[in-house]
Amino acid sequence: MSLKLSSRHEWVMQSEIRNMSIECDRIGGINLSQGVCDLEVPEIVRSGAKEAIDNGINSYTRYDGIDELREAIALKQKRFYGMDVDPVNEIVVSAGTTGALYCVCLSLLEPGDEVIVFEPYYGYHVNTLVATQAVPVYVRMSPPDWTFCANDLERVVTAKTRGIIINTPANPSGKVFSYEELEMISNFAQKHDIFIFTDEIYEHFLYDGRKHLQPAKIEGMRERTITISGLSKTFSITGWRIGYCICDKKWSQAIGYFNDLIYVCAPAPLQMGVAKGLLELPKSYYDGLTLEYKEKRDKICDALSNAGLEPYIPQGAYYVLSNISRIPGKNSKERVIYLLKKIGVACVPGEAFFHDDSGENLARFCFAKKDDVIDEACKRISALQL
Ligand code: PLP
Repeated sequence: MSLKLSSRHEWVMQSEIRNMSIECDRIGGINLSQGVCDLEVPEIVRSGAKEAIDNGINSYTRYDGIDELREAIALKQKRFYGMDVDPVNEIVVSAGTTGALYCVCLSLLEPGDEVIVFEPYYGYHVNTLVATQAVPVYVRMSPPDWTFCANDLERVVTAKTRGIIINTPANPSGKVFSYEELEMISNFAQKHDIFIFTDEIYEHFLYDGRKHLQPAKIEGMRERTITISGLSKTFSITGWRIGYCICDKKWSQAIGYFNDLIYVCAPAPLQMGVAKGLLELPKSYYDGLTLEYKEKRDKICDALSNAGLEPYIPQGAYYVLSNISRIPGKNSKERVIYLLKKIGVACVPGEAFFHDDSGENLARFCFAKKDDVIDEACKRISALQL
């Protein structure tokens, strides 16, 4: 038989995060590897979806999302960031942030186009580029604050550079890009005439009084910025698959057509539930999220410090990278397996966030877990004897 897998399948590897979850399940450990928040879904979001099903909203929707949701997203942009967005022409609802980014890459990048990615990165960003035949090019950020400078960007730019991916707040580093950094990236994008793709899925997870800043709002950046976000994290609905992109109408139609081709539409009644949540949840809901997650962040960072595994305190999102060099092992994979076997807590090896073997001394712990789970994990980490 001459049938075989496509060469494309080799480009996209099984994520280390999924591997750790499988290993963790096998030994019945506490899983702090995957970014699946097991917190309560807001009642208004759940009932909105249930009512939509009962009211017959069960068919295909417009390829770029139902009116109610696009309007709710436009209102949210105005409410939180003072940005005017046209809900008819400038928003495409997709199958999660992941689906939105995939359609964006298919619509705006040629095979061979280079896209700058900050490292440590979120693996799906890199794999989405690779799957759509774009070429990721890396700029390394330095701990503890995950800094970089304009020269780092200039060093990697070529005639083929077409875009740069920002993730703020970032997975896995928890970095929140400052205004000065966003301005520096914006100047760079204008100088080299490239797109900014900005993944803002953790926009409501900010600590210590930080504010979420959108590159699209920086003067002159609107047209070349594609803002991507979703509700998986904000409403704890990772399985619902609702995300979107906001962009100039020059780009939105093609992005919408790819969305139609690949997903047809995001799930109709779930779009309705999310629209209800966006429209009706008060400010206190978002403030509550920040407070709740800050407490979890502080607990896990304290536990890691107690164990001598220096945490790089996250400014946002719900992951913490920590220095695990004290744990026995040749690389981060061996170290996290040692940790899992010793105390039954799973995390992600740092190498999953770098294109080379950097990250061998890092591990990522997700703290989007219920308090009893976090407390037990912290108890075990604090008691770790190395
Ligand atoms: N973007 C980032 C940076 C993430 O960390 C994740 C999930 O972990 C996603 C996107 C996935 O988002 P969605 O569920 O909307 O596809």
